[in-house]
Amino acid sequence: MDTATLSVRPIAWTHFDAMYAQALTSWTLDKDTDWTDGAALVEFAGRACYQSWTKPNPATATNAGYIAHLLDVGHYSVLEHGTVTFYLTGVSRSFTHELVRHRHLSFSQLSQRYVAGAGQVVEPAIIAEDPYLHAVFNEAMQGINRAYGELLHALDRKLEAAETPRCPECGDPAQWVQDPTGWECQRCRRMLPGPSKWEVQRSRTSRRKQARQAARAVLPNAAETRLVVTGNYRAWRHLIDMRASEHADVEIRQVAMAILRELSRMVPAVFGDYVIRELGDGTEVAESPHAERS
Ligand SMILES: Cc1cc2nc3c(=O)[nH]c(=O)nc-3n(C[C@H](O)[C@H](O)[C@H](O)COP(=O)(O)OP(=O)(O)OC[C@H]3O[C@@H](n4cnc5c(N)ncnc54)[C@H](O)[C@@H]3O)c2cc1C
Repeated sequence: MDTATLSVRPIAWTHFDAMYAQALTSWTLDKDTDWTDGAALVEFAGRACYQSWTKPNPATATNAGYIAHLLDVGHYSVLEHGTVTFYLTGVSRSFTHELVRHRHLSFSQLSQRYVAGAGQVVEPAIIAEDPYLHAVFNEAMQGINRAYGELLHALDRKLEAAETPRCPECGDPAQWVQDPTGWECQRCRRMLPGPSKWEVQRSRTSRRKQARQAARAVLPNAAETRLVVTGNYRAWRHLIDMRASEHADVEIRQVAMAILRELSRMVPAVFGDYVIRELGDGTEVAESPHAERS
């Protein structure tokens, strides 16, 4: 079986029209801040609460200082204005089962009803690194692959047989012929009423969907999947607090760490407070003094 490679790519993020916001108020941004990004929007939203456009306190006069203060006092709701969207590939269905528990994130995931499964798999590293465990895993995946293929084929034939008109004389299933176009009993040579070519085509698509939705019951947790995930800064912070932790599953922790690295690069003022630490087994965790646990 082919093993999928993890990819965590930011594909969309908040763009803030600071020039317009500034024109509406007496607010000015410090020169070190990117005027167009979500961190500037967070500061604007925070200042809008109190109309505090002037900056008498040097500690909060910079964008980074202002956001650090928001985190210190727990004014997390303003972080909800900035969002980042990721495209995740090379992740397992067991990972997405955990990810979708985070109710403030938004998901669009590859459909196993429309797209055939039994492609690549995500093999846990602890299994992949051990020849015996890897062989057991591989054999199981190959068995599943075979069963999935057989189920798809047999289900398609079963559904097709149920839809094919039968000859009222001999009871044989009719066949689709081109000249004259329509359903014909091959034994009695009589034309039979039945669905049109367009309806047959539509039915084939619907049959494939029905076959896939039933056959996917045997697909494993290790099956690779892909999805677009959007979250606001607060929701991403919560995901990182919960899942970049020693107690979380290794795969979701790995993804949470990759997401944190991207977010720290993109919006350092909001995600720069996390400290990354390596565990004894070489994996990583991230911790922040501002973790919002509940
Ligand atoms: C180490 C670990 C082990 C886990 N093991 C299991 C397990 O064995 N079984 C299992 O079922 N789950 C398990 N989970 C999942 C866990 O229970 C949560 O579903 C998941 O972490 C999502 O976090 P959350 O519920 O805090 O909320 P999110 O959906 O991420 O929401 C963030 C916050 O918003 C608030 N919020 C959201 N929705 C509501 C609401 N409806 N009402 C009130 N407040 C709300 C809460 O403050 C919440 O903390 C595990 C999670 C971890 C990290």
